[in-house]
Amino acid sequence: MDLPFEPYRIKVVERIHRVSPQERARLLEEAGYNVFKIPSAAIYVDLLTDSGTSAMSDRQWAAMMTGDEAYAQSRSFVEFEEVVRGIFGYRHVIPTHQGRAAEGLLFATQVKPGQVVPSNIHFDTTRANVEHVGGIALDCVADEGLDPKLEAPFKGDMSLAKLKAAFEKYGAERIPLVMLTITNNSGGGQPVSLANIREVSAFCCEMGVPLIFDACRFAENAWFIQQREAGYADKSIDEICAEVFACGDGCTMSAKKDALVNIGGFVCLNDDQWALELTNLLILREGFPTYGGLAGRDLAAIAQGLREVMDPEYLAYRIGQVARLGRHLDELEVPYLHPAGGHAIYLDARAALPHIPQEQFPAQVFTAALYLEGGVRAVEIGSLMFDHLDPDTGAVVHPALELVRLAVPRRVYTHTQLDYVAEICARVMRNGPRLRGLEITYAPPALRHFTATLRPVAGGPF
Ligand SMILES: *Cc1c(COP(=O)(O)O)cnc(C)c1O
Repeated sequence: MDLPFEPYRIKVVERIHRVSPQERARLLEEAGYNVFKIPSAAIYVDLLTDSGTSAMSDRQWAAMMTGDEAYAQSRSFVEFEEVVRGIFGYRHVIPTHQGRAAEGLLFATQVKPGQVVPSNIHFDTTRANVEHVGGIALDCVADEGLDPKLEAPFKGDMSLAKLKAAFEKYGAERIPLVMLTITNNSGGGQPVSLANIREVSAFCCEMGVPLIFDACRFAENAWFIQQREAGYADKSIDEICAEVFACGDGCTMSAKKDALVNIGGFVCLNDDQWALELTNLLILREGFPTYGGLAGRDLAAIAQGLREVMDPEYLAYRIGQVARLGRHLDELEVPYLHPAGGHAIYLDARAALPHIPQEQFPAQVFTAALYLEGGVRAVEIGSLMFDHLDPDTGAVVHPALELVRLAVPRRVYTHTQLDYVAEICARVMRNGPRLRGLEITYAPPALRHFTATLRPVAGGPF
């Protein structure tokens, strides 16, 4: 049997509803064809994000009850610090309320205006936090990571040639640190190999520049290394993580991903001076260094979540569930970015809806149609999110890809519910030729995809 077996049984359930097609049509229109505006109560399967949407275990809930809420030096912090150190191995562990707060502290203290931070691909909050302090966020992913059809095991790898070119162009003194995002979220949730991590690390050492991991999906990345990279099949997830993090000088982390909690984050660092500078800002922005914007119970839940995420049976189920959704979509001939990512599938809306031009937002059309057809919520990663103006000509530039991301929350949906999602995707494909494009009726000046409203272009029902 080819099923990813769930290494758990369900103890608590949450009622969800399938609202009627008429109700969905009404809600979609009221939301201006923007699924961010649809009430969660009217959604059947919510694949908007895998961030903060995990189901916690009985042990995590138990840890919440026994969390220590002391302001300073709480027992829960001591436990959290011990578990984090055990996995990541860095000297300083600094809690924050979520990932972007960790990034904000790191870049605000270590990046000066005009300095450059290379990464494989910066996640949007990472890029925004670098740019907020006047830095330049540079993407250096290897070319194969940019080819949506290519089947390759480590499409998150950084191009060493691009990284070296950045050092030649800007000089090491303008590069305060290098980042590696594992797995590479903005590049399709694709993993980074240990060979690449070693290579990047060796180069950073040679240049005297620290390497910091954006470690949100570190355990999923380690699982891919174990499964796909020669020489790692017999190593444990703990051993692989130890090898990965020994190549760097620290990490930022959103615990809302691989720590299996609904809120939280942290920064780890080896350098005493950097840690001191971050901690001073932490006290101003987040809180005392032993809670950093979190409750004691949150720290306790993170500690337990980190123990659970290292379980190879959990990881086989987790990555297996996403891969299984991918295989199902292959059978139904729904096009997506290959191979399936660790946490998400990225549907290729241009291939699915070739009759809709990019200025009419094909990925947003597909996203809206998924809701209309089956109460499934995904997220558009295409022109609505990424259109920008050419600084020289003022013309609108569309992104290369029109994607619809189906991000799978951890331990939340059954195989049956994901089978349903695949069927709904196929139904949208079948109705595709009848779907009309969308036009914007309102858009704010920045990050418009969150709050923009749209309507079908003249001449057709949606
Ligand atoms: C989610 C995420 C972040 C930001 O974390 P938040 O907890 O949402 O602030 C940073 N990097 C990557 C790769 C992420 O996926």
